Amino acid sequence: MKPTILILLALVTAAATFMSIVRQKRHADLLILNAVIHTVNEYDDIAEAVAVRGSRIVAVGTTQDIENQFTSQQVIDAAGRTVIPGIIDAHAHVLGLGQSLTELDLVGTRSAEEIAAMVAARAKELPPGEWIRGRGWDQNDWGSGTGEKPFPSAAVLDKAAPDHPVILSRIDGHAIWVNSRAMELAAARSELTHDVEGGRIVRDRLGRPTGVFVDNAESVVRAVVPDYTREEKEAMYRRAFDECLRYGITGVHDMGIDETDDAVYRSLAERRELPLRIYALVGGTGPFLDRMLREGPKLDPVHHYYTLRSIKLYLDGALGSRGAALIEPYSDEPESRGLITADPDTVRSVVEKALQARFQVCIHAIGDRANRKALDAYEKAAARFPAQAAGARLRIEHAQIIAPEDIPRFASLGVIPSMQPVHATSDMYWAQARLGPERILGAYAWRSLLDAGCIIPAGSDFPVERPDPFAGFYAAVTRQDAQGYPRNAADVREMFQLSADGIEDPSRFENGWYAAQRMTRREALRAFTLWGAYAEFASNQKGSIEEGKLADMVLLDRDIMSVPPKEILSARVLTTIVGGKVRYQQPSGGPAGRR
Ligand SMILES: [Zn+2]
Repeated sequence: MKPTILILLALVTAAATFMSIVRQKRHADLLILNAVIHTVNEYDDIAEAVAVRGSRIVAVGTTQDIENQFTSQQVIDAAGRTVIPGIIDAHAHVLGLGQSLTELDLVGTRSAEEIAAMVAARAKELPPGEWIRGRGWDQNDWGSGTGEKPFPSAAVLDKAAPDHPVILSRIDGHAIWVNSRAMELAAARSELTHDVEGGRIVRDRLGRPTGVFVDNAESVVRAVVPDYTREEKEAMYRRAFDECLRYGITGVHDMGIDETDDAVYRSLAERRELPLRIYALVGGTGPFLDRMLREGPKLDPVHHYYTLRSIKLYLDGALGSRGAALIEPYSDEPESRGLITADPDTVRSVVEKALQARFQVCIHAIGDRANRKALDAYEKAAARFPAQAAGARLRIEHAQIIAPEDIPRFASLGVIPSMQPVHATSDMYWAQARLGPERILGAYAWRSLLDAGCIIPAGSDFPVERPDPFAGFYAAVTRQDAQGYPRNAADVREMFQLSADGIEDPSRFENGWYAAQRMTRREALRAFTLWGAYAEFASNQKGSIEEGKLADMVLLDRDIMSVPPKEILSARVLTTIVGGKVRYQQPSGGPAGRR
């Protein structure tokens, strides 16, 4: 052949190859390029680019790979920023968050008078007789000095709002503070002369209620507080969803809903108006649970936006209000061992019914006695229904204080400890006073549980804590507060006012509070993503950035896996993507330049 023909042929071949590449480029709905993608796959691979089609990830690789294979109208150039799987908050209260954004927000208030002023202002806005609601007070933050402070009384609120009933939840949700108007309404229904099983009505010397109702005793007042209407609830849910998306949360385990909540979720899911994924738990026993056990789990195998296949039960209260049930008495209140708030036999029988109906159970247990009873209930139920128990992924929520001999039982029974890392650094100032130097070693014991073979799905417990998952991630990897304390045993001695016997081994406080219990960053990222997905039977659908999984991803302004620890706290979400849709975009635009 003549050279010109050869050249011509070569050109034709090159053009054909080029055209076929162009033609073979697949369409994608969204591409993210030039990112540092922590995939959280089996090998912890780091990728640069991802292609999304519909609601799913169709490819993960280098920017060049993805650009060669795909075209898309929507391209996010991450400009070297970090992408992680969507955050799954494995323990939170969605309506509670919406409520806290609607009701008086008392978090961080410094005195009863400050709260009274807020109540008085709200009273001016509402017609007389309407309830004034709030949450987030903590009397331990009031006045000077540290340590336990007395509960406030109704009188302060009576002056602020004489014509409105007032109900204010404590920060941990385990006590309410009310005014006399509210107590009058409650007294019209039930006598306030007796305590309630698993609860306590705080009284003066003459036995009269002073305005604080602890744990189960809350129900005496709550019974006369009108429920929110469905419309009010829907509005609160929407506020909560927006707040979650701002923090990169693409899925929430909603810890206890009622029938109205379920109706709201179902209708939002049917209208395709849920902007994030909800894994809800039936809250406690009663007609709603009975109905669900008859009907069976509500699964969402196509869209994965709303699932109801789990039950939330309670076995005790919280450590702050000494409601957590301990095996031995409280170190700072020798006459008290806390409260078991449900009959353990009832709990076991609910677990058995749940297993038969293919429901998961999640038991709230904070104290070591409650944890032991929860493990016992699971063990007995599993012995009766071994086949059903095998895949049930039974959980204990909080698993906060565990007797050393019970730690291996989590792994051997396959019980998942679902924990909230930020609780450790919120509680560390007073937890050891409650528990003493021995028991504290089994408190917030992430490393012990991980080493025993457990996974730990992580949550925030919002609105008890802020929804910010990076605060939790930071607490998990540092066991220090936002200021970086404690740095050593001297800090602990000073901050927590512990006697010398509390810190016999100073090495335990080197770079963090019982620093040996810290998680690695790799573990903490899994705890907030893949392990949460596992705990809701969805680790084959989400929790990591892999081909075929749901496209739930978050673009961050910094790499939480490599920045100095303190910078983790300032991490901001630039873009939140749920099911391939951009559901949140930082208003200032961020670096997510589209081309
Ligand atoms: Zn909770």
